[in-house]
Amino acid sequence: MNSKTFPLIFERSNPGRKSYSIPSIDTEQEVNDIDPIYIRKKPARLPEVSELDLIRHYTALSKRNFGIDSGFYPLGSCTMKYNPKINEDVARLDGFANIHPNQPVKTVQGALEVMFYLQKSLEAITGMHEVSLQPAAGAHGEWTALMMIRAFHEENGDLKRTKVLIPDSAHGTNPASATVAGFESVTVKSNENGLVDLDDLKRVVDDNTAALMLTNPNTLGLFETEIIEIANIVHDVGGKLYYDGANLNAIMGYVRPGDMGFDAVHLNLHKTFTGPHGGGGPGSGPIGVTKELAPFLPKPTIVKRNGAYDFEYNRPRAIGRVKPYYGNFGINLRAYTYIRSMGAEGLKKVSEYAVLNANYLMRRLEEEFELPYPVHCKHEFVLSGRKQKQLGVRTLDMAKRILDYGFHPPTIYFPLNVEEALMIEPTETESKDTLDEFIEVMLEIARDVRENPEIVQDAPHYTVVKRMDETRAARKPVLKYDGFNE
Ligand SMILES: *Cc1c(COP(=O)(O)O)cnc(C)c1O
Repeated sequence: MNSKTFPLIFERSNPGRKSYSIPSIDTEQEVNDIDPIYIRKKPARLPEVSELDLIRHYTALSKRNFGIDSGFYPLGSCTMKYNPKINEDVARLDGFANIHPNQPVKTVQGALEVMFYLQKSLEAITGMHEVSLQPAAGAHGEWTALMMIRAFHEENGDLKRTKVLIPDSAHGTNPASATVAGFESVTVKSNENGLVDLDDLKRVVDDNTAALMLTNPNTLGLFETEIIEIANIVHDVGGKLYYDGANLNAIMGYVRPGDMGFDAVHLNLHKTFTGPHGGGGPGSGPIGVTKELAPFLPKPTIVKRNGAYDFEYNRPRAIGRVKPYYGNFGINLRAYTYIRSMGAEGLKKVSEYAVLNANYLMRRLEEEFELPYPVHCKHEFVLSGRKQKQLGVRTLDMAKRILDYGFHPPTIYFPLNVEEALMIEPTETESKDTLDEFIEVMLEIARDVRENPEIVQDAPHYTVVKRMDETRAARKPVLKYDGFNE
């Protein structure tokens, strides 16, 4: 579709047209509690269109979008997998969709039961002692757990622990969360195999270390095989080990952060556990911790007492509340539906297929693209576009060209320790046919880079908008409709 056929409602406005109908007031007097200072003096200058024009506007907008329900989305580290529609059915059940968090607990026992058993499930999956569902995103979970680690050290009078160690391959939220939690983030180098460099870790770790944050498998999709040694190094100086479990796809059902020696973990229910993801919608980043850290969990927690579910506020060492009410219930409900519909065996299969799909893609794409760490990967892998860059085509150009074929591009230029990185995560929900189609596209683009580079350099050719000035869009976003030009 090009923009000419796009029915912009702003251009179609016709005074007096309406796309709503509101019943007329049948009370004696208008009830209006709004302070007059908040009431508009003049009506807002909004487009006036019919209901049909309005529907066409939003339908056309939705077609401009790219989502997991419209095409393959191998965006590394984002786990863009299929969100089963049964989750939506459950989330729409009256007893879940139409309740209010201020209702007396005896009227929402079902919702509390879901939260209780979701906590129990996540405890079993992570090998942690206790879980809180409050954090609303992965980064929020990281920050919450770091605040708990901080409270733990402070309670021990251990006030010198100001540093949080973070490998150079880590997700950008790790140093951000550490900084916001009041720590100094210190980088740990990767070695030539893409894993934590133990010598560098030993060099930076000391009794000022509050924690080490680690993703395992890391963002290169590589499993940190020295994890027990790493845990010992950090624990020996009195530090805590934090697990960034945003993408648990690779190991679910096989190995648990708790068994690897981690003290705290967050999960992204909007990644691994099929919460709808993208477009800035609500997320959920529950945290799990060991028995030692559990007293610091945000309150209230959910408990079962005398056969009924209740909120527990009596937690004197809790760091407080980190979110109004109890977390993003709708996303937590979807995650619980997913866990129960997969079952323990199903979740194990998820890991098998996520790893199998990633390795299949990796080995086929290696024909044309440089593979900096040519070993068995977990749920994702990272290619380098270095060879193509030497021919004058950047990874960014190739990513734009992928859009022309109807696929979402992989993550690019991350992780930072790989030049011209292309980070690919197919997820377990894709069929071999889709993977083969993607492979064909990638190989064709690589051929074009050699034989016909302009077609890649000028891409995308078939999208509604071409290359955007992303920096300007971020710095000077146009977020509000300013009315019509008169
Ligand atoms: C996505 C992701 C995060 C951050 O999660 P948000 O929900 O976006 O805050 C952290 N770490 C890793 C490895 C991730 O992939």
